[in-house]
Amino acid sequence: MNHKLSVTVQVDLDGEYVRVLATGCLTEASQRALHPLIRRARIPTPGIHVTVDLSGAHHIEATGMELLRRALEDTDSAGSRPVALVVPDVLPHHRITVSPESRVTPDSSAGTGPARKVAA
Ligand SMILES: [Zn+2]
Repeated sequence: MNHKLSVTVQVDLDGEYVRVLATGCLTEASQRALHPLIRRARIPTPGIHVTVDLSGAHHIEATGMELLRRALEDTDSAGSRPVALVVPDVLPHHRITVSPESRVTPDSSAGTGPARKVAA
């Protein structure tokens, strides 16, 4: 399964608000990519508001979520504001959209799959 995380960082014109918008898949492995971004986002202003928004993610692993939460707590220091985390109520699972072109037939060599059309 291909888990891909996309991250967009939006900075308010005043530089007081930073929104880290993560879409795609948040997994145990991919959540690590957010750590340096969040750390960097908090440096410019001590009182900066940082929000990590996961409401647009297609897939959130509970373990990935937990690791991210813990990492955010670790960076909470030196009078910085805690990072706000926006998470959907129900963690979305990885959905595979099957299009006719990319469908894989496990017994394609047999050629006797049900309802299989062979182009002439
Ligand atoms: Zn995924």
